Amino acid sequence: MTQLLLTGGAGFIGSHTCLVLLQEGHNLIVLDDHSNSSPVALERVATLSGLSASAESSTERLQLIQGDIRDSTCLGKVFIDARNAGKPIEAVIHFAGLKAVGESVREPLRYWDVNLTGSRCLLAAMNANDCRTLVFSSSATLYGYPKDVPIPETAPIKPINPYGHSKAAVEQLLHDLAASAPNQWRIACLRYFNPVGAHPSGKIGEDPLGTPNNLFPFVSQVAVGRRTSLQVFGGDWPTKDGTGVRDYIHVMDLAEGHRAAIDCLLAEPAQLLTLNLGSGQGASVVEVVRAFERASGCQVPYEVVARRAGDAAITVADPSLALQRLGWRTQRSLDDICRDGWAWQSANPSGYSDQQ
Ligand code: NAD
Ligand code: UDP
Repeated sequence: MTQLLLTGGAGFIGSHTCLVLLQEGHNLIVLDDHSNSSPVALERVATLSGLSASAESSTERLQLIQGDIRDSTCLGKVFIDARNAGKPIEAVIHFAGLKAVGESVREPLRYWDVNLTGSRCLLAAMNANDCRTLVFSSSATLYGYPKDVPIPETAPIKPINPYGHSKAAVEQLLHDLAASAPNQWRIACLRYFNPVGAHPSGKIGEDPLGTPNNLFPFVSQVAVGRRTSLQVFGGDWPTKDGTGVRDYIHVMDLAEGHRAAIDCLLAEPAQLLTLNLGSGQGASVVEVVRAFERASGCQVPYEVVARRAGDAAITVADPSLALQRLGWRTQRSLDDICRDGWAWQSANPSGYSDQQ
């Protein structure tokens, strides 16, 4: 039983990962400022995993702390309190960050502050408290416009927006840190492709604020009637049906990837691993729409409009290194993704604000 700290653990990927790690038997501390999440998510995680935690109270297994990763005093206290309670934090999964590409273009200072300064504060606190095992939420956005698809981890890092630059900077910082203290840091940079779907219970899922920027939540909201139709960004891409192709990964597969990464880091000698987490399969926008219609039984009207600035035609992972190093590969199909995404969206048409 390992004591883990999850920054941003109340968010979309974090909440699903909490569930998987609790089921694995780990004890969790979640540090989240709830700038993009609801405390209800972790209440539901607690219920799903048979705990009775609420946002106000905490249990031995799942402790919730509202705080900002840029607050060094708060971070220091989290580590010291855990040690004083006899359960020092052994590893950190660092989800906390900002993730909207368009917003990062408009607000680069905020993105560099939360994503880079926040990570630097966290790493300093870890170092000061002799905790040097970290899983970092990186992104396929680092690859920019990829030359070769499927994309291996050795592909050039060429981010094309401030969000991508901030993730690349954190990866560089992690390399520098690992090099400064050989044999001390155990680090996994996990480059996620397109995380989508929800836990099959429909109790937790993705709950974007305002109009979704991403395809999958937009399609779900059209299906449930919150929006009238989808705009498909470009019908003239060099792809099978002219619409953009992405590697959609079920969020439960992704959560299981984090479990595998933690197990690997704790079992093996100090190292810095960089791994793509994707399915290796590409789906076009129209294929996603059709799969969602099948799963939901609802129509998803769409119109093809101009391409979106900054989009690549095809982004698909080469996930073979993750299989080799972690023994992990995706288990769930696009149909599973749509079935579970629909279970969440149809039970919670307005997301977590449907609570009560
Ligand atoms: P999310 O917004 O749902 O979760 C992030 C969590 O971090 C939220 O709960 C938010 O409240 C919290 N947070 C933000 N700033 C914070 C701060 N300063 N201090 C403490 N908590 C803070 O996002 P997600 O989709 O779960 O993504 C998790 C991580 O994975 C992010 O770092 C994101 O960049 C990365 N990522 C996401 C995707 C994706 O498509 N969802 C793809 C690649 C990488
Ligand atoms: N997309 C779309 N309409 C939307 C949102 C996205 O046609 O409202 C397309 C987008 O052009 C891309 C794919 O769907 O081809 C996935 O986009 P998303 O923003 O979800 O992921 P990313 O582009 O960041 O990989």
